[in-house]
Amino acid sequence: DVGHLPVDKKVDSTCPYCGVGCLLTFNVRGDRILYVEGRDGETNHSRLCVKGRFGFDYVHHPHRLTKPLIRREGAPKTPELLDPARMHEVFREASWEEALDRAAGGLKRIRDQYGPKALAGFGSAKGSNEEAYLFQKLVRTGFGSNNVDHCTRLCHASSVVALLECIGSGAVSNPVADVMQAEVIFLIGSNPTVNHPVAATWIKNAARQGAKLIVADPVRTEICRFATHALQFRPDTDVALLNGIMHVIVEEELYDQAFIAKRTEGFDNLRHHLKHYAPERVAPVCGIPADTIREVARLYATSKASMILWGMGISQHVHGTDNARCLISMALMTGQIGRPGTGLHPLRGQNNVQGASDVGLIPMVFPDYQPVGDPKVREFFERLWDAKLDPEPGLTVVEVIHAIEKGQIRGMYIEGENPAMSDPNVAHARAALAKLEHLVVQDIFLTETAGFADVVLPASAFPEKTGTFTNTDRRVQLGRPAIDPPGEARQDLWIIQEIARRMGLDWNYSGPREVFEEMRRAMPNIAGITWERLEKEDSVIYPCGKEGDPGQAVIFTESFPTTTGKGLFVPAEFTRAAELPDDDYPFVFITGRQLEHWHTGAMTRHASVLDAIEPYPVVQMNPLDLAGLGVAPGDLVTLESRRGRVSAYARADLGMQRGTAFMAFCYNEAAANLLTNEVLDPDAKIPEFKFCAIRVRPGGEL
Ligand code: SF4
Repeated sequence: DVGHLPVDKKVDSTCPYCGVGCLLTFNVRGDRILYVEGRDGETNHSRLCVKGRFGFDYVHHPHRLTKPLIRREGAPKTPELLDPARMHEVFREASWEEALDRAAGGLKRIRDQYGPKALAGFGSAKGSNEEAYLFQKLVRTGFGSNNVDHCTRLCHASSVVALLECIGSGAVSNPVADVMQAEVIFLIGSNPTVNHPVAATWIKNAARQGAKLIVADPVRTEICRFATHALQFRPDTDVALLNGIMHVIVEEELYDQAFIAKRTEGFDNLRHHLKHYAPERVAPVCGIPADTIREVARLYATSKASMILWGMGISQHVHGTDNARCLISMALMTGQIGRPGTGLHPLRGQNNVQGASDVGLIPMVFPDYQPVGDPKVREFFERLWDAKLDPEPGLTVVEVIHAIEKGQIRGMYIEGENPAMSDPNVAHARAALAKLEHLVVQDIFLTETAGFADVVLPASAFPEKTGTFTNTDRRVQLGRPAIDPPGEARQDLWIIQEIARRMGLDWNYSGPREVFEEMRRAMPNIAGITWERLEKEDSVIYPCGKEGDPGQAVIFTESFPTTTGKGLFVPAEFTRAAELPDDDYPFVFITGRQLEHWHTGAMTRHASVLDAIEPYPVVQMNPLDLAGLGVAPGDLVTLESRRGRVSAYARADLGMQRGTAFMAFCYNEAAANLLTNEVLDPDAKIPEFKFCAIRVRPGGEL
């Protein structure tokens, strides 16, 4: 109980972790956050998970960057991670003036010598909307190309591609809390207890109140305790299972003929395609009995309100876009969209991945998903930004790494991203980062990626800044500063602006509010949200086109934002993962997160409580597989793929299927992404993090 501790001030803000975006209050004494409380509001009704409540003291960690760093003359760049003990041999401290001149000077030299496409920028889904907006504007108008991307490429790019293609918008149709109005909840490829814990509480409460909860996942996760139907299908067989469900809906005429006729196109094409997916045919493929497939199809199609939620188990596949296309088709054919308690909700991962995508931190669209290739759109932004813009979409995250290898990209600016941990086949990504002629990294810790930098710029942590953040429900929420950045660390917005000025842009934004005003002019979806209203209400949902508009929680009620106003059925053929298990590599390797750690661990591994709960890398496997290997829980094992090898402690997990292994990707001493496959979904360019072949043997080193 910390409530009795005397505090100097209470600061209302939001959680810096997952896309649920819980409202919270920082309790501050002096320059320290003492404790955090949940705050009442639509998003979380005062609830917080372990990360939100106990994961804040990373901001006070002694390893925070407090001074700009410059790589010492002659310090070699090698593909290995920098040993923190050698940091002073590799970097020297510098003044802001020198570091900014060096950072921008190197980028400018490459742009002028090799052309705009020799540069790329990775912005951050952890930073604010204003930071992401300015970052993409800098790359587009200062670097001169659309080579700007961020971690959405690694999480929901395939969901967004499918949603844009089929219903014209990448946003969720209904907020998570709408599950309370659903009769049937279809949750697939998502472990919300771990990844969106407060969102999971709505789902559990809905199930307790009588909603039918269908959980489909290759791993039997904790939320299955609340499920009426738990479909533990074989990894990678999503399209077969979902087409089987839709086959039943068509065969038994459970679809909504009126909705299909009025609001969709392409149904006959899909109906024809589904003939090959009778449940009896797909049952042996996905490992779910045909009768169960039929029962689930009937429940979903015939309920008064059915809602689909999904996570990265759907999106992170070489056929991730196809997986999402199937889910959209299910909703369209049954008319389960456009009403409370229905619809499509891809649960966003990072706290601001929705907002960073909305403001254009992606290579193929300007803010509000307006295509860079559309001359009218380009003309608008050229006028707004007073710059000539590139009509060609830029390179995505993994494509940038390949372009570095080929010598096409020579310089990069990375703000708050950690590709040396988060990219697939990460040894490959590290070798590419080491090859860059000039790398500028802006972050709060000397991350694994910063070890490859020429200049490191110390930035501000979440509780040290003002800015807006957009959660998974499309809620734009205000984050407020509780403390100052340590030492000489500076606001990200200031740093981006200083780099922009040195690259020839005449920027003079006075702060986040002025940037937000420009965003409102660029983005029709948030045009009606004023800064004053955010200060008063904290959280406003979009679309909100006009001032005073309450915002719309449920969208697509009358039509879809496509050229015809109709939703499009896009059939998906069942295909397999790029690398299947064989005699040499018999296990399927799946990556994801743990409850206590977040993304590459840069923040949570510096949070004392969280790191104390999960201090070591673990691999979760079925106890029978462990016994077969002669391994006891807690023993070290070594996992090896065709690309790399890591050791971790074995954890017995009855929820894992035989022949599968799961690891979080936050441990730099055992980086799960040393094993993963960099093959990409052809439409969304998302890597296949959820499936590659490995072998496991007892023993190892950590
Ligand atoms: Fe933070 Fe997400 Fe937990 Fe809410 S559910 S407290 S946003 S990590």
